Amino acid sequence: MNLNRTLLMTALLTALATTPVFAARGPGQSGIGDPGTCVDCIAAPVDDQEAATLTFMREEEKLARDIYRGAATLWTSSLFANIADSEQQHMDAVLKMLNKYGLPDPVATAGDLPGRFSDSELQQLYDDLAQQSANSLMDALLAGALIEEVDIEDNQNALDATDNLDLKMLYGNLLRGSRNHLRAFVQEIERLGIVYEAQHLEQDAVDEIVDSPTERGGNGNRGDNGGSRR
Ligand code: MN
Ligand code: MN
Repeated sequence: MNLNRTLLMTALLTALATTPVFAARGPGQSGIGDPGTCVDCIAAPVDDQEAATLTFMREEEKLARDIYRGAATLWTSSLFANIADSEQQHMDAVLKMLNKYGLPDPVATAGDLPGRFSDSELQQLYDDLAQQSANSLMDALLAGALIEEVDIEDNQNALDATDNLDLKMLYGNLLRGSRNHLRAFVQEIERLGIVYEAQHLEQDAVDEIVDSPTERGGNGNRGDNGGSRR
């Protein structure tokens, strides 16, 4: 572990001096036991666009967590607290990659406070959805489903736009989690008698996800079933 620490420090120091960042992980340091890390992969350089996307994803996961934690204090459905725990794991997985590639954590930059974001668009979306979630349980569930639809699109775009195996694995795991969360929110919405209509993705895409079974999170990404069917 000392060697890994040394390598991490090297990566951090490199990050202070240069952009883009080249990670200091060689083929000898496998990621075994490290769910967010590609086993035996030689980390590809992370370019400016990949770094910006990864940074955004850290706060996008936080938005989901903070909205669901807020909803959990207002409404009795256990769905919100369960899925919020899953979002915390997603945040942790993104942070692991930010650290690996020597990138600053935007959550820390914004003071690590609930409902506060470095990214102004995410701040606006949080403010809108927090207000919506306070209206009624159904409004909170619809806010959750919207968040998951947006996350699915953003994670798919991020996955498609990177050739870095670490990041592909990360976004694949986040995608699987988001599909499960969307299934859980839609199931609860429909249990309460509302036919769910897609809010951000194409209706066909939403139907295909909702009509397919809950997925098991791979690579030790526990908690993706936080919204599992009851
Ligand atoms: Mn998530
Ligand atoms: Mn989610």
